[in-house]
Amino acid sequence: MEMILFKKVFIEKNIVNVETTKNIVSRLPKKSRENIVYIDSYQDIFGKVKKPYLQKRDNLNLFIAEKKGVLVKEAPEAYGLSGEKHFYFINSYNCIYECEYCYLQGFFNSPDIVVFTNWDEIKKEIKSVAKKYPGSWFHAGEFSDSLALSHLTGELGHYFKLFKELPEAKLELRTKSINIREALEIDPLNNVIFSFSVSTEDACKNIDLKTPPLKHRLKAIKELQDRGHQVGLHLDPIIWSPNWSEEHTHLVEKLSREISLDKVSYISLGVVRFTETVYHQFKKNYPASSIHQGELTKSFDQKIRYPRALRNKMLSFVRESLIFREVKKELIYDCME
Ligand code: SF4
Repeated sequence: MEMILFKKVFIEKNIVNVETTKNIVSRLPKKSRENIVYIDSYQDIFGKVKKPYLQKRDNLNLFIAEKKGVLVKEAPEAYGLSGEKHFYFINSYNCIYECEYCYLQGFFNSPDIVVFTNWDEIKKEIKSVAKKYPGSWFHAGEFSDSLALSHLTGELGHYFKLFKELPEAKLELRTKSINIREALEIDPLNNVIFSFSVSTEDACKNIDLKTPPLKHRLKAIKELQDRGHQVGLHLDPIIWSPNWSEEHTHLVEKLSREISLDKVSYISLGVVRFTETVYHQFKKNYPASSIHQGELTKSFDQKIRYPRALRNKMLSFVRESLIFREVKKELIYDCME
């Protein structure tokens, strides 16, 4: 479990007495609780002055705030299994991990964490969208990791209660975290899916900085599956290295050995990609990253990716390796291609 020592904790005055806020404060380490500052609005401070992204390593603040404006947004095309509507809801900004390709670098003006505690409004909006578009998908963690701070926010309880009332809607909790203690105590629902991003052992260690190692992620997946929870996988981003095919063969073998691959709800595949802004930040923040070994060029949608022939080769290789391990091909889809 991640015990993060936030330098300062900023709390909006109007939500100090909200139950969710009080619960978060009570779960903070004592040292963080001693550094609480009460503010009018997080927008007056968060990102007002540019805070370098890598300061997240040793100077991270937490904002506890109310999310105003849009709470649920439609997700871009090619986001999930095709033919279904996808939405994401905004319950926090930024992440405690530091994957070198992360799209959050350069997205906000600050790496500080913001958690929103107006759950009643977020839930109301999800319900209304679910009613309008029956059978749609909802995704948490578009701007954060869905599980990494869930012991602090207590959000899992909200999700399971809400989606029990919405059996037709589906919720995806996307994560690299092994923070599953709370999940193991909750009764599983078929429409709530924990989806884990997994990469080769080397990438988990040297590119997904500060995230749990592959073997711990696989153990967490197995425990959730044994408890009866639904699990999805994202083999995304797939990153080129001189031994990419051997490394991905080992990854798929490991998946088939250590988790119940036949019980996985779906597997998405995606090759590393950057918007121009994120690519610029990535080069600045990680000049020695092994990602630079691959041939990255501007693609049809202005994103920086490998040339199409290489992307197709890598995607088909991983797809075929999974099919060889008895994954049904209709459960595998390409993300953002
Ligand atoms: S886990 Fe996701 S959100 Fe967090 S740093 Fe990695 S890519 Fe970014």
